[in-house]
Amino acid sequence: MVQSLDRSQGRSGAPVGAASDAAATVTGNRALQIEEKLIFEQGQPGRTGVDLPEPPKVKDRLNGLRRIGEIGLPGLSEPQVVQHYTRLSQKNYAIDMGVYPLGSCTMKHNPRINEKVARLPGIGDLHPLQPVSTVQGALELIDQLAHWLKTLTGMPAVAMSPAAGAHGEMCGMMAIAAALEARGERKQRTVVLAPESAHGTNPATAAALGFTVKPIPANDRGRVDLAALTAALGPDVAAIMLTNPNTCGLFESEIIEISKAVHAAGAFFYCDGANFNAIVGRVRPGDLGVDCMHINLHKTFSTPHGGGGPGAGPVVLSQALAPFAPYPWIVKDGSGWRIAEEGSATPNSARIGGTPLGRLKAFHGQMGMFTRALAYIMSHGADGLRQVAEDAVLSANYVKARLQDVMTPAFDGPCMHEALFDDGFLKDTGVSTLDFAKAMIDEGYHPMTMYFPLVVHGALLIEPTESQAKEDLDLFIAALRSLAERAKSGTEAEAFKAAPRLAPRRRLDETLAARKPVLRWRPSNNPPGGDPLKQAAE
Ligand SMILES: *Cc1c(COP(=O)(O)O)cnc(C)c1O
Repeated sequence: MVQSLDRSQGRSGAPVGAASDAAATVTGNRALQIEEKLIFEQGQPGRTGVDLPEPPKVKDRLNGLRRIGEIGLPGLSEPQVVQHYTRLSQKNYAIDMGVYPLGSCTMKHNPRINEKVARLPGIGDLHPLQPVSTVQGALELIDQLAHWLKTLTGMPAVAMSPAAGAHGEMCGMMAIAAALEARGERKQRTVVLAPESAHGTNPATAAALGFTVKPIPANDRGRVDLAALTAALGPDVAAIMLTNPNTCGLFESEIIEISKAVHAAGAFFYCDGANFNAIVGRVRPGDLGVDCMHINLHKTFSTPHGGGGPGAGPVVLSQALAPFAPYPWIVKDGSGWRIAEEGSATPNSARIGGTPLGRLKAFHGQMGMFTRALAYIMSHGADGLRQVAEDAVLSANYVKARLQDVMTPAFDGPCMHEALFDDGFLKDTGVSTLDFAKAMIDEGYHPMTMYFPLVVHGALLIEPTESQAKEDLDLFIAALRSLAERAKSGTEAEAFKAAPRLAPRRRLDETLAARKPVLRWRPSNNPPGGDPLKQAAE
């Protein structure tokens, strides 16, 4: 999609790469930056990498609907296919290439031992429909991970099946809705409170489940304004959705007061646990009065995410919400491990009268991610996990301390796992947060998170994680210091607006790409709107 947009941008005169460099080569390539055509543009009809036997003659049973035109797939030899996809793979910036400071995303190293374990034949070759007697070890693995997650969070129950953070939010909020229903309060409690700095998925989840979202302002310390929160609490409030540490990278120091106030008002406390990396092994959310929290295994517990793989978002639940956990869950009885499905009662559902909220997804959750997360947890051990949090917080504070004289920290004092700056240091320079981020690409870095959280003007959110060596952070810091100083010189606005200069593509029309994505390639003799299938039939 973006590729074809890029190309049309190149054709329409916008610079492709550094214009003069590109003109200097016959191929349009710049050293090892290969100017890669779409696979459809490379293909030749009739070329193939395999020899297939002539198909047997069959009688047409398609009532005249048999395709008569070309199928329109690109024809390539095997080396062409391999080279195309290898070149494409090299266009990615990846966690395995360098500092990936994308705040709120916890882009940390995925240890290779995780991959090795996940690929063991007994694990990698499992099928979710195998007889339970043949997957005893896998069920035990899920149960062990569940045990770690409950222990690390200080919570009595966990729902393992949610497929990602946002899916976990939905699971937790559905459990809250079910608990309110059981109390006969679902109709009355329609409001969900969300701090203004909340991740977009929080209000989206609440709204998707039919709640009305009410924003709670932050105070000048970047934390939830307790007075505003208390004023908003009432018999119409179902829950608060709060992230701790919050997306300003700050620990909510009044968290105990917040949770007490929320519970006194008869509401639930949903904690967005995506930032667990900052506190794992140091703070147990259960001790803070949390009723449910999703854990992004793909953030804290180092399973690949983004382009690298699916996520997993188990949700830990308090005693009050446990009876409403979705199916399935893993139980052990005299005959071994088993999967409790529809109809099984939770241990305390009779007492509370809860009904599990059904299934959230097919099968039992993301088995590959469970395996990676458990490998990560067990290879670190409890003390290692604690050190993860300490080092992540140390790295972020190091970055913050080394940049605070040239950039503007959004809030005073130490941060947790991410350092948040606003665009104050760019004031009157003609350089915006976006320009600054684009200039980082020329320096070989994936930009930090920009313009989020929304409570900070022109936000730049840097999460270095614990997995970068000090020398690598030092180089990153030196690059940012140099960019900040250049921006502040007041004479380089033009240069920043032109960045990135060295990337294969420069400024893309991101709005157009989002609003009018070009998802389908068409040969030039097949005008837009023409349907090749239909044409073939005609
Ligand atoms: C990443 C993130 C989410 C959403 O998690 P997904 O796995 O991407 O759905 C929610 N809240 C916060 C604070 C996050 O950083």
